[in-house]
Amino acid sequence: MIVVFAIDALEYNLVEEFDCKNLKQDYYGKTDISEFSQPRTMVLWSSFSTGKNKEKDVLEDGNKEMWSKKWDLKETFFSHFKSPVVLDLPGFSYDLEAHERSRKLLKAFFTTEDEQEKEKIREEYNKDAFEHHKKIKEEFFKALNEDHDFVLGYFSVADVIGHLNFGNKTMMRMIYRELDEMAAQIKEKCNKLIILSDHGMYGVGMFGDHSNYGFWSTNFKIPMKTPKITDFSSLITK
Ligand SMILES: [Zn+2]
Repeated sequence: MIVVFAIDALEYNLVEEFDCKNLKQDYYGKTDISEFSQPRTMVLWSSFSTGKNKEKDVLEDGNKEMWSKKWDLKETFFSHFKSPVVLDLPGFSYDLEAHERSRKLLKAFFTTEDEQEKEKIREEYNKDAFEHHKKIKEEFFKALNEDHDFVLGYFSVADVIGHLNFGNKTMMRMIYRELDEMAAQIKEKCNKLIILSDHGMYGVGMFGDHSNYGFWSTNFKIPMKTPKITDFSSLITK
């Protein structure tokens, strides 16, 4: 079984700072996403799944509409497998409702001037992100215990929480520890494990914004040190 642990906004520098050994696996580094004009989640995962730079296609749909983009199975490398499971991946099996909930709360957070109201919204926003994480985690580990040749789980918690709380080191450390523990458990269930982020994150005051490189790690050797996100489809299927 080949497994991809897809983590939105997993930041290389934080993996190093918190020394997440399981996330780093045997080989790890940054990905090169410099071919893209901006580090956009939907563009990057679409390009990962299809093995092609899909920036133009995704942006054609407009900033709001692009989130409902869905690539056909046969356009993705997942079609090389007999019984692939791909959970919650943007551009493929994404939970649009969860995305819209956090977007709405984020908007409300930045609209209100009332500090007490802001804290209330932040709490609800964080709680929602952790609950979604828990739900996908359950589905992911269920799939890992079934008979599949390919399983991918996409986790948004580091990105969603990071956007509003990146300056909160305690909270970010807790999230990275959770992801690191998951990596250790996943490793026991599969032959090949690829951990991949679309982009990283850097701090802007208390908040976080996307950094212009991603993170990768594997438990097997790959031929390049700084792969592109579009390299993984052939690395995985060959
Ligand atoms: Zn983001």
